[in-house]
Amino acid sequence: MSGIASVDQVQRFLFNKANVRGELVQLQDTYRDILSSYTYPPIIQTLLGELMAATTLLNATLKFEGEIGLQIQSDGIIKYAVVNGTHDLKLRGVARWDETVTELPETFSALFDKGYLVITITPKEGERYQGIVGLEQPSLAGCIEQYFLQSEQLMTQVRLFAQQGDNPMAGGTLLQILPTSSEATNVAESTDFAHIAALTDTLKAEELFSLEATDVMYRLYHQEEVEVFTPAAVKFECHCSRANTIIALQHIDKTELLKIVEEDGDIKMHCQFCNKEYCFDALDVETIHSGFDPDASPTKQ
Ligand SMILES: [Zn+2]
Repeated sequence: MSGIASVDQVQRFLFNKANVRGELVQLQDTYRDILSSYTYPPIIQTLLGELMAATTLLNATLKFEGEIGLQIQSDGIIKYAVVNGTHDLKLRGVARWDETVTELPETFSALFDKGYLVITITPKEGERYQGIVGLEQPSLAGCIEQYFLQSEQLMTQVRLFAQQGDNPMAGGTLLQILPTSSEATNVAESTDFAHIAALTDTLKAEELFSLEATDVMYRLYHQEEVEVFTPAAVKFECHCSRANTIIALQHIDKTELLKIVEEDGDIKMHCQFCNKEYCFDALDVETIHSGFDPDASPTKQ
């Protein structure tokens, strides 16, 4: 165990003078819980860890209730990898790859062919937003930086880390210039941003995975003026439910469902995120396709 208290937390901070906001995340149990749901090779464990750290960092910037998802899709060895997080920082994720490939590559880029990253923001109320960026950079962090530069015109620095072995941990940092109203301040701000980004660049994985967040920040920014906010807890939690599974089954023809029950004894619906299994027998099928009102469920997808 790492023995640090600030794991499974995200720490937000602000460089008031420089108009730059920052975040730092360290994940341990959250990461291990996701890794425990499937046997992932090390390179895919790393990818999931980085996706989890990135989702948490982007999530902490949401100003409304809802969900954020980072999904990679490709024609290469990785078919897809996705991590979703709710506004209260409950994460779940899964990756699927070509398991016939016995020797996986060691670099990020070699995992993908025609790969892209989809960032989906789903507010509880209002329109869903989706942004897409090609996986053209040599790291996930680089791709996310490129996304912010392209789609939001916001200078952003992302650093992501994941380690395996006896003490699996994932984490990272995000710096982002705050959108300003004044053009004149832009040059000064970009200089300030570059300075803070250079400081952040000195962070090493072993520091992030062995020091308290406050100690990491002291090492990096002790000469800067930083306003630090209360850290927020991150945890692994799947929000799949029997009710949501029922809604999915309502979209399938009743005779088809009954045929499955007849052949297999029951219908098994398996959640790929948490491995939970939901079973339905013939009586359940009859109920699902008669009295159940889908609109009565608050957790409708
Ligand atoms: Zn689940």
